[in-house]
Amino acid sequence: MTTVAFIGLGNMGGGMAANLAAKGFAVRAFDLSAEALQKAVAAGCTACSSAGEAVAGAEVVVTMLPAGSHVAGVYRDSVFGASPKGTLLIDCSTIDVGTAKTLGAEADAAGLVAVDAPVSGGIAAANAGTLTFMVGGSDEGFARAKPVLEAMGKAVIHAGASGAGQTAKICNNMLLGASMVATSEAFLLAQKLGLDPQRFYDIASVSSGQCWSMTSYCPLPGVGPESPADRGYQGGFAVALMLKDLRLAAEAAGLAGAETPMGAKALELYEGFAATGQGGLDFSAIIRRLGKPAD
Ligand code: NAD
Repeated sequence: MTTVAFIGLGNMGGGMAANLAAKGFAVRAFDLSAEALQKAVAAGCTACSSAGEAVAGAEVVVTMLPAGSHVAGVYRDSVFGASPKGTLLIDCSTIDVGTAKTLGAEADAAGLVAVDAPVSGGIAAANAGTLTFMVGGSDEGFARAKPVLEAMGKAVIHAGASGAGQTAKICNNMLLGASMVATSEAFLLAQKLGLDPQRFYDIASVSSGQCWSMTSYCPLPGVGPESPADRGYQGGFAVALMLKDLRLAAEAAGLAGAETPMGAKALELYEGFAATGQGGLDFSAIIRRLGKPAD
Protein backbone atom coordinates (compact mmCIF):
# COMPACT_ATOMS: atom_id res chain seq x y z
CA MET A 1 0.00 0.00 0.00
CA THR A 2 1.43 3.39 -1.01
CA THR A 3 1.58 5.95 1.79
CA VAL A 4 0.63 9.48 0.76
CA ALA A 5 0.99 12.63 2.86
CA PHE A 6 -1.87 14.97 1.89
CA ILE A 7 -1.50 18.61 2.94
CA GLY A 8 -4.36 21.07 2.35
CA LEU A 9 -7.79 19.54 2.86
CA GLY A 10 -9.98 22.47 1.82
CA ASN A 11 -12.77 22.61 -0.75
CA MET A 12 -10.69 20.69 -3.29
CA GLY A 13 -8.17 18.76 -1.21
CA GLY A 14 -10.85 17.29 1.10
CA GLY A 15 -12.53 15.38 -1.72
CA MET A 16 -9.23 14.44 -3.34
CA ALA A 17 -7.79 12.96 -0.15
CA ALA A 18 -11.06 11.06 0.42
CA ASN A 19 -10.78 9.54 -3.07
CA LEU A 20 -7.19 8.44 -2.44
CA ALA A 21 -8.25 6.75 0.80
CA ALA A 22 -11.22 5.10 -0.93
CA LYS A 23 -8.89 3.73 -3.64
CA GLY A 24 -6.64 2.02 -1.08
CA PHE A 25 -3.87 4.56 -0.47
CA ALA A 26 -2.79 5.09 3.15
CA VAL A 27 -3.37 8.83 3.54
CA ARG A 28 -1.59 10.84 6.25
CA ALA A 29 -3.55 14.08 6.29
CA PHE A 30 -2.78 17.56 7.59
CA ASP A 31 -4.53 20.93 7.43
CA LEU A 32 -4.30 24.04 9.60
CA SER A 33 -8.09 23.77 9.99
CA ALA A 34 -9.20 21.21 12.59
CA GLU A 35 -12.60 20.97 10.91
CA ALA A 36 -11.07 20.07 7.54
CA LEU A 37 -8.88 17.48 9.23
CA GLN A 38 -11.87 15.90 10.98
CA LYS A 39 -13.69 15.52 7.67
CA ALA A 40 -10.65 13.79 6.18
CA VAL A 41 -10.53 11.37 9.10
CA ALA A 42 -14.23 10.58 8.59
CA ALA A 43 -13.31 9.78 4.96
CA GLY A 44 -10.65 7.25 5.99
CA CYS A 45 -7.48 9.37 6.32
CA THR A 46 -5.13 9.39 9.31
CA ALA A 47 -4.89 12.76 11.10
CA CYS A 48 -1.43 14.26 11.60
CA SER A 49 -0.64 17.21 13.84
CA SER A 50 1.81 18.92 11.47
CA ALA A 51 2.99 18.80 7.86
CA GLY A 52 6.25 17.30 9.11
CA GLU A 53 4.41 14.47 10.86
CA ALA A 54 2.33 13.77 7.74
CA VAL A 55 5.41 13.66 5.52
CA ALA A 56 7.36 11.30 7.81
CA GLY A 57 7.26 7.84 6.26
CA ALA A 58 5.32 8.93 3.16
CA GLU A 59 6.51 7.85 -0.30
CA VAL A 60 4.40 10.55 -1.95
CA VAL A 61 3.54 14.09 -0.77
CA VAL A 62 0.47 15.76 -2.30
CA THR A 63 -0.24 19.45 -1.64
CA MET A 64 -3.48 21.34 -2.43
CA LEU A 65 -2.87 24.81 -1.02
CA PRO A 66 -4.01 28.37 -1.79
CA ALA A 67 -0.86 29.85 -3.41
CA GLY A 68 2.85 29.48 -4.17
CA SER A 69 3.95 30.94 -0.82
CA HIS A 70 2.05 28.19 1.04
CA VAL A 71 3.56 25.42 -1.08
CA ALA A 72 7.06 26.88 -0.73
CA GLY A 73 6.57 27.14 3.04
CA VAL A 74 5.50 23.51 3.40
CA TYR A 75 8.24 22.22 1.08
CA ARG A 76 11.05 24.24 2.66
CA ASP A 77 9.97 23.79 6.31
CA SER A 78 8.75 20.20 6.27
CA VAL A 79 9.81 18.30 3.13
CA PHE A 80 13.25 19.36 1.83
CA GLY A 81 15.87 17.92 4.16
CA ALA A 82 13.26 15.67 5.84
CA SER A 83 11.87 13.35 3.15
CA PRO A 84 14.12 10.49 2.01
CA LYS A 85 15.73 10.72 -1.44
CA GLY A 86 13.40 9.63 -4.22
CA THR A 87 10.22 10.82 -2.47
CA LEU A 88 7.65 11.98 -5.03
CA LEU A 89 6.17 15.48 -4.54
CA ILE A 90 2.94 16.30 -6.37
CA ASP A 91 1.69 19.87 -6.05
CA CYS A 92 -1.92 20.11 -7.29
CA SER A 93 -2.41 23.75 -6.20
CA THR A 94 -2.67 26.53 -8.79
CA ILE A 95 0.46 28.63 -8.25
CA ASP A 96 2.69 30.99 -10.24
CA VAL A 97 4.90 29.41 -12.89
CA GLY A 98 8.08 30.93 -11.43
CA THR A 99 7.58 29.42 -7.97
CA ALA A 100 6.66 26.03 -9.50
CA LYS A 101 9.93 25.97 -11.47
CA THR A 102 12.01 27.13 -8.50
CA LEU A 103 10.52 24.48 -6.21
CA GLY A 104 11.06 21.83 -8.91
CA ALA A 105 14.76 22.77 -9.07
CA GLU A 106 15.10 22.81 -5.26
CA ALA A 107 13.46 19.38 -5.08
CA ASP A 108 15.90 18.07 -7.71
CA ALA A 109 18.82 19.40 -5.68
CA ALA A 110 17.46 17.62 -2.59
CA GLY A 111 17.24 14.30 -4.49
CA LEU A 112 13.44 14.38 -4.60
CA VAL A 113 11.18 14.02 -7.65
CA ALA A 114 8.69 16.90 -7.99
CA VAL A 115 5.86 17.56 -10.43
CA ASP A 116 3.42 20.45 -10.68
CA ALA A 117 -0.04 18.99 -11.35
CA PRO A 118 -2.77 21.64 -11.20
CA VAL A 119 -6.33 20.64 -11.95
CA SER A 120 -9.20 21.57 -14.18
CA GLY A 121 -12.61 20.91 -12.62
CA GLY A 122 -14.12 22.33 -9.47
CA ILE A 123 -15.28 21.04 -6.10
CA ALA A 124 -17.84 18.64 -7.63
CA ALA A 125 -15.14 17.04 -9.81
CA ALA A 126 -12.76 16.84 -6.83
CA ASN A 127 -15.45 15.00 -4.84
CA ALA A 128 -16.39 12.73 -7.74
CA GLY A 129 -12.78 11.92 -8.66
CA THR A 130 -13.20 13.31 -12.17
CA LEU A 131 -10.56 16.07 -12.24
CA THR A 132 -8.22 16.68 -15.17
CA PHE A 133 -4.54 16.95 -14.16
CA MET A 134 -1.97 18.81 -16.27
CA VAL A 135 1.47 17.71 -15.20
CA GLY A 136 4.85 19.45 -15.44
CA GLY A 137 8.00 17.47 -14.67
CA SER A 138 10.32 14.72 -15.85
CA ASP A 139 9.16 11.53 -17.59
CA GLU A 140 9.99 9.65 -14.39
CA GLY A 141 7.99 12.07 -12.25
CA PHE A 142 5.01 11.85 -14.60
CA ALA A 143 5.11 8.03 -14.71
CA ARG A 144 5.21 7.80 -10.92
CA ALA A 145 2.54 10.48 -10.36
CA LYS A 146 0.10 9.04 -12.90
CA PRO A 147 -1.39 6.20 -10.80
CA VAL A 148 -1.80 8.52 -7.81
CA LEU A 149 -3.52 11.18 -9.92
CA GLU A 150 -5.67 8.61 -11.71
CA ALA A 151 -7.21 7.76 -8.33
CA MET A 152 -8.49 11.36 -8.18
CA GLY A 153 -9.24 12.17 -11.80
CA LYS A 154 -10.47 11.17 -15.23
CA ALA A 155 -7.55 12.53 -17.27
CA VAL A 156 -3.83 12.90 -16.52
CA ILE A 157 -1.81 14.70 -19.20
CA HIS A 158 1.94 15.31 -19.33
CA ALA A 159 2.29 18.98 -20.32
CA GLY A 160 6.10 19.10 -20.38
CA ALA A 161 8.99 20.02 -18.09
CA SER A 162 8.73 21.52 -14.59
CA GLY A 163 6.26 24.46 -14.58
CA ALA A 164 4.49 23.32 -17.76
CA GLY A 165 1.45 22.13 -15.78
CA GLN A 166 0.99 25.59 -14.26
CA THR A 167 1.56 27.18 -17.66
CA ALA A 168 -1.19 25.03 -19.21
CA LYS A 169 -3.52 25.81 -16.32
CA ILE A 170 -3.22 29.61 -16.44
CA CYS A 171 -3.31 29.77 -20.25
CA ASN A 172 -6.46 27.61 -20.24
CA ASN A 173 -8.12 29.74 -17.58
CA MET A 174 -7.14 33.00 -19.27
CA LEU A 175 -8.86 31.68 -22.40
CA LEU A 176 -11.87 30.60 -20.31
CA GLY A 177 -12.15 33.99 -18.56
CA ALA A 178 -11.99 35.87 -21.85
CA SER A 179 -14.38 33.51 -23.64
CA MET A 180 -16.92 33.81 -20.82
CA VAL A 181 -16.86 37.59 -21.16
CA ALA A 182 -17.20 37.33 -24.95
CA THR A 183 -20.06 34.82 -24.66
CA SER A 184 -21.85 37.09 -22.18
CA GLU A 185 -21.58 40.18 -24.34
CA ALA A 186 -22.72 38.29 -27.45
CA PHE A 187 -25.88 37.07 -25.68
CA LEU A 188 -26.63 40.53 -24.26
CA LEU A 189 -26.12 42.19 -27.64
CA ALA A 190 -28.27 39.60 -29.43
CA GLN A 191 -31.01 40.19 -26.88
CA LYS A 192 -30.77 43.99 -27.14
CA LEU A 193 -31.09 43.69 -30.91
CA GLY A 194 -34.30 41.72 -30.44
CA LEU A 195 -33.03 38.17 -31.06
CA ASP A 196 -34.46 35.47 -28.81
CA PRO A 197 -31.56 34.07 -26.68
CA GLN A 198 -32.61 30.47 -27.24
CA ARG A 199 -32.64 31.05 -31.02
CA PHE A 200 -29.20 32.65 -30.79
CA TYR A 201 -27.98 29.62 -28.79
CA ASP A 202 -29.44 27.21 -31.34
CA ILE A 203 -27.56 29.02 -34.13
CA ALA A 204 -24.25 29.96 -32.45
CA SER A 205 -23.82 26.58 -30.74
CA VAL A 206 -23.53 24.96 -34.19
CA SER A 207 -21.72 27.89 -35.82
CA SER A 208 -18.21 29.31 -35.61
CA GLY A 209 -18.87 31.21 -32.36
CA GLN A 210 -19.40 27.93 -30.49
CA CYS A 211 -17.29 27.53 -27.34
CA TRP A 212 -17.38 25.70 -24.00
CA SER A 213 -18.54 28.85 -22.16
CA MET A 214 -21.65 28.76 -24.33
CA THR A 215 -22.51 25.11 -24.83
CA SER A 216 -21.50 23.68 -21.43
CA TYR A 217 -21.75 26.66 -19.12
CA CYS A 218 -24.04 29.28 -20.65
CA PRO A 219 -24.03 32.50 -18.56
CA LEU A 220 -27.64 33.26 -19.46
CA PRO A 221 -30.25 31.53 -17.23
CA GLY A 222 -32.58 29.10 -18.99
CA VAL A 223 -30.39 28.64 -22.06
CA GLY A 224 -28.27 25.54 -22.77
CA PRO A 225 -27.64 22.69 -20.32
CA GLU A 226 -28.12 23.41 -16.62
CA SER A 227 -25.34 25.64 -15.32
CA PRO A 228 -24.69 27.93 -12.31
CA ALA A 229 -26.67 30.66 -14.14
CA ASP A 230 -29.78 28.54 -13.47
CA ARG A 231 -28.99 28.51 -9.74
CA GLY A 232 -28.46 32.24 -9.26
CA TYR A 233 -24.74 31.78 -10.03
CA GLN A 234 -24.23 29.78 -6.83
CA GLY A 235 -21.64 26.97 -6.70
CA GLY A 236 -19.28 26.31 -9.61
CA PHE A 237 -15.97 28.19 -9.99
CA ALA A 238 -15.88 31.39 -7.97
CA VAL A 239 -15.16 34.83 -9.45
CA ALA A 240 -12.36 35.17 -6.85
CA LEU A 241 -10.63 32.03 -8.17
CA MET A 242 -10.97 33.18 -11.80
CA LEU A 243 -9.49 36.49 -10.73
CA LYS A 244 -6.59 34.69 -9.08
CA ASP A 245 -5.85 32.73 -12.27
CA LEU A 246 -6.15 35.82 -14.51
CA ARG A 247 -3.67 37.60 -12.25
CA LEU A 248 -1.26 34.66 -12.47
CA ALA A 249 -1.61 34.71 -16.27
CA ALA A 250 -0.96 38.48 -16.39
CA GLU A 251 2.10 38.09 -14.15
CA ALA A 252 3.49 35.28 -16.32
CA ALA A 253 2.77 37.25 -19.50
CA GLY A 254 4.63 40.27 -18.09
CA LEU A 255 7.67 38.16 -17.23
CA ALA A 256 7.63 36.44 -20.63
CA GLY A 257 7.10 39.69 -22.57
CA ALA A 258 3.90 38.28 -24.13
CA GLU A 259 1.03 40.51 -25.24
CA THR A 260 -2.30 39.33 -23.78
CA PRO A 261 -4.78 42.18 -24.39
CA MET A 262 -7.87 39.95 -24.09
CA GLY A 263 -6.57 38.40 -20.88
CA ALA A 264 -5.84 41.89 -19.54
CA LYS A 265 -9.36 43.08 -20.39
CA ALA A 266 -10.91 40.01 -18.75
CA LEU A 267 -8.76 40.67 -15.66
CA GLU A 268 -9.96 44.30 -15.52
CA LEU A 269 -13.61 43.24 -15.79
CA TYR A 270 -13.35 40.48 -13.16
CA GLU A 271 -11.44 42.84 -10.83
CA GLY A 272 -14.21 45.45 -11.10
CA PHE A 273 -16.89 42.82 -10.55
CA ALA A 274 -15.16 41.29 -7.51
CA ALA A 275 -14.72 44.79 -6.04
CA THR A 276 -18.51 45.12 -5.90
CA GLY A 277 -18.66 42.19 -3.48
CA GLN A 278 -19.50 39.51 -6.06
CA GLY A 279 -16.32 37.43 -5.60
CA GLY A 280 -18.24 34.45 -4.21
CA LEU A 281 -20.51 34.01 -7.21
CA ASP A 282 -19.72 31.63 -10.06
CA PHE A 283 -17.51 33.30 -12.69
CA SER A 284 -20.26 33.17 -15.32
CA ALA A 285 -22.01 35.90 -13.26
CA ILE A 286 -19.65 38.31 -15.08
CA ILE A 287 -22.62 38.73 -17.44
CA ARG A 288 -24.15 40.91 -14.71
CA ARG A 289 -21.15 43.24 -14.96
CA LEU A 290 -21.98 43.81 -18.62
CA GLY A 291 -25.73 44.27 -18.47
CA LYS A 292 -29.00 42.85 -17.30
CA PRO A 293 -30.34 39.89 -19.25
CA ALA A 294 -33.99 40.56 -20.19
CA ASP A 295 -36.54 38.20 -18.57
P1 NAD B 1 -9.32 26.20 0.16
O1 NAD B 1 -8.98 27.55 0.69
O2 NAD B 1 -10.70 25.68 0.33
O3 NAD B 1 -8.31 25.10 0.79
C1 NAD B 1 -6.97 25.35 1.10
C2 NAD B 1 -6.67 24.62 2.39
O4 NAD B 1 -5.27 24.75 2.66
C3 NAD B 1 -7.42 25.19 3.60
O5 NAD B 1 -8.16 24.15 4.23
C4 NAD B 1 -6.30 25.73 4.51
O6 NAD B 1 -6.58 25.58 5.88
C5 NAD B 1 -5.14 24.86 4.07
N1 NAD B 1 -3.81 25.42 4.35
C6 NAD B 1 -3.33 26.65 4.07
N2 NAD B 1 -2.05 26.75 4.43
C7 NAD B 1 -1.71 25.54 4.98
C8 NAD B 1 -0.51 25.02 5.53
N3 NAD B 1 0.61 25.76 5.62
N4 NAD B 1 -0.52 23.76 5.98
C9 NAD B 1 -1.65 23.00 5.89
N5 NAD B 1 -2.81 23.44 5.38
C10 NAD B 1 -2.83 24.70 4.92
O7 NAD B 1 -8.90 26.24 -1.38
P2 NAD B 1 -9.41 25.24 -2.53
O8 NAD B 1 -10.63 25.80 -3.18
O9 NAD B 1 -9.42 23.84 -2.01
O10 NAD B 1 -8.24 25.44 -3.59
C11 NAD B 1 -6.97 24.82 -3.43
C12 NAD B 1 -6.14 25.08 -4.67
O11 NAD B 1 -6.81 24.53 -5.80
C13 NAD B 1 -5.91 26.56 -4.98
O12 NAD B 1 -4.59 26.73 -5.44
C14 NAD B 1 -6.95 26.85 -6.06
O13 NAD B 1 -6.56 27.92 -6.91
C15 NAD B 1 -6.99 25.53 -6.80
N6 NAD B 1 -8.25 25.24 -7.51
C16 NAD B 1 -9.44 25.43 -6.90
C17 NAD B 1 -10.61 25.13 -7.59
C18 NAD B 1 -11.98 25.32 -6.92
O14 NAD B 1 -12.98 25.22 -7.65
N7 NAD B 1 -12.05 25.55 -5.64
C19 NAD B 1 -10.56 24.64 -8.89
C20 NAD B 1 -9.31 24.43 -9.48
C21 NAD B 1 -8.16 24.74 -8.77
